[in-house]
Amino acid sequence: MAEIQLRNVNKRWGSFVGVDNFNLTIADKEFLVLLGPSGCGKTTTMRMIAGLEDITEGEIAIDGKVINNLDPKDRDVAMVFQSYALYPNMNVYENIRFPLRVRGVDASTHDERVRRASRMVELDDFLHRKPAELSGGQRQRVALARAIVREPNVFLMDEPLSNLDAKLRVSTRAQIKNLSHELAVTTIYVTHDQIEAMTLADRVVVMQKGIVQQVGSPTEIYDKPANAFVASFIGNPAMNLIDGEMRGGVFETQRTRVEGLRAPDGKVTLGFRAEDASIAEDGNGQITAPIYTLELLGDATMVSVRIGQALVAVKADKSFRAEIDDTVSISVPADICHVFDTDTGKRLS
Ligand code: ATP
Repeated sequence: MAEIQLRNVNKRWGSFVGVDNFNLTIADKEFLVLLGPSGCGKTTTMRMIAGLEDITEGEIAIDGKVINNLDPKDRDVAMVFQSYALYPNMNVYENIRFPLRVRGVDASTHDERVRRASRMVELDDFLHRKPAELSGGQRQRVALARAIVREPNVFLMDEPLSNLDAKLRVSTRAQIKNLSHELAVTTIYVTHDQIEAMTLADRVVVMQKGIVQQVGSPTEIYDKPANAFVASFIGNPAMNLIDGEMRGGVFETQRTRVEGLRAPDGKVTLGFRAEDASIAEDGNGQITAPIYTLELLGDATMVSVRIGQALVAVKADKSFRAEIDDTVSISVPADICHVFDTDTGKRLS
């Protein structure tokens, strides 16, 4: 069992706020992802849970027990970092076994535990190799096995895939997902990669500038972003955001008019996803503008137009044919639209 509670957790260095009033209960066995741009406070939050960073204010509890003053080694959490920090002079077997030795775990159990952990990450054929004789992906798996072997109550993973190339990232990601299912241990995973977050998480915490922006399942965050920041951070390509004016249920700005929206009058930002919009073959779309660029994606063509400062993308059929500067009509019905307050960024509808 490991339910983790963060209550009004703050981290400050002088007047700089690294983490601002973080409140969350992470359920036993949950896979929670902390997601946000560089410097948003993800790593700091995780380091406070690990005990590697003091908590300026607030409390962190594991299974109801406040751990603020507990030594890292007494917290029963295992961390996996982006730099795997393996011991170069030890072979894979000894690297994986190392945490058992330093913790004084009964030596008669070591062999079985090391072999089980190495099997889980498919390294059982590499136990005699030194880190220098492994690929980057294999080294990262040694680091994973070294965390698994401890059988901790909590896993903390800080960008464990970021040093791997794109292809290895995808396969190692799948392996982490499968492992987490098999191990069923509370896991907190830090990343700035929204695809990693969406594919791995039970719940995602989106952070910006030390402040939690939204907590929800990947689907909730994708379908109902709480504000324009979350909307722009989740999804590939990012959600289209157009600043304009709302009056009587009608959104209007240059080249754009969307009727039937449920949002109060005033300055708003209209959002919609490229994959939800389409090319209006009949020319009766809500946006009419010259094409800025066309990108062939293989299964589709991404068509972009410019509305003021914003580049607006729509996913068209792969058979769509047009040239840059041709006028295109884009269908953006009200039911695919999100409306945000332009000043606060908050979701209005
Ligand atoms: P990244 O993805 O780049 O690792 P992050 O979201 O993990 O970013 P943190 O490492 O948690 O960000 O840092 C949050 C903020 O706190 C950053 O602005 C960082 O510069 C600042 N910070 C981190 N450690 C310290 C420190 N020891 N003293 C002062 N400021 C710090």
